[in-house]
Amino acid sequence: MTNKSETVTAVDALEIHRRAIIVDMHADTAQRLVDERVDLERLLPDGHLDAVRAREGGLDAQFFSIWVEPELFGGGGPRAIKRAEVQIEAVRALAEKHPETWELATTAGDIRHAAANRRIAALMGLEGGYAIDENLKNIDRYYQMGVRYMSPAWSVSLSWAGSSGDAAGKSRGLNDFGRQVVREMNRLGMMVDVSHVSDPTFWDIINNSTKPVIASHSGCRAIANVPRNLTDEMIVALAKTGGVVNVIFYPEHIEPGWTDKKKKVDAEIEPLVRQASEAEKGDAAHKKLARDRVRAAKYLKRLPPVSVARIVDHIDHVVKLAGIDHVGIGSDFDGVQAVPTDLKSVADLPNLTKELLRRGYSEGDIDKILGGNMLRVMEEVQKK
Ligand SMILES: [Zn+2]
Repeated sequence: MTNKSETVTAVDALEIHRRAIIVDMHADTAQRLVDERVDLERLLPDGHLDAVRAREGGLDAQFFSIWVEPELFGGGGPRAIKRAEVQIEAVRALAEKHPETWELATTAGDIRHAAANRRIAALMGLEGGYAIDENLKNIDRYYQMGVRYMSPAWSVSLSWAGSSGDAAGKSRGLNDFGRQVVREMNRLGMMVDVSHVSDPTFWDIINNSTKPVIASHSGCRAIANVPRNLTDEMIVALAKTGGVVNVIFYPEHIEPGWTDKKKKVDAEIEPLVRQASEAEKGDAAHKKLARDRVRAAKYLKRLPPVSVARIVDHIDHVVKLAGIDHVGIGSDFDGVQAVPTDLKSVADLPNLTKELLRRGYSEGDIDKILGGNMLRVMEEVQKK
């Protein structure tokens, strides 16, 4: 009996999963397109995302993160701008070279269109405001290129916005220019993303944005106490703007205690990481790839496994605080050196739906979590 009912549930889960429009708000695959020249049409032996696995996992829309690492490319200036532009070109090229697989999208309507035509919608978000180079006109430029969200800061604070990743961010929120950035994004219809920003910056965004605010890839601080996660108070405030918390899959940001264990491992493997970096003769981006490969191998061996159930703990927490309309998913695939054991790549997304179903979520709830809530926010934000 047990076996039979489990089989029925698995079939239901897959059907519900296939029917839903699934929107992942954050993956770092654009860097792989640029630095490794990966061909996303084929099943890749590494990483977390390609078209083959996306189809297997039922993914309908992927926001590609346009991430400018300020320590490698500058916190502004021509190199930061160039780094953003080459990634944007690489994402746009997906749809140009393989229109049978990808559709470049900027709206909720575009995503629905791509899904109806069995293509994957490719969208873009800027991770950190370094590439706007303290010039409001650049926000419009990136908007014209197709960028539809931006987080003011990644792990390094800017003059106009504090980050959760450094000491300056502890007291730094948005200055006058930062508030102008939020106004310009609201005017254009570009979503404001609070992932990675400092607490003061979070509150300045909430108090200044006239449109729904999102977290593209974040967790709950009440479960995993890391500075870049959201407190209960923040989750409630973000939901009040009409926005969505997209729960990240990265173990460090969802599993209690994982970050302290990781710090210990990082200290121990530091010489190995350094050697790998020195042995790599390529540019700064390739050296970073070499370092990350060592980290990924060591984390897999030495850090505790995390399962999809922990992701759903965070989803449950947001739902409990803010209701079913304010939660989504932001994997951070291809931007992290560890993944849950049963959500190793985009191909495993049905396991998330199975777990949601097991916890008692209805098909309507699951539709909202997997993408429906973000489609609503996109429609709201693009309204003039
Ligand atoms: Zn990130």
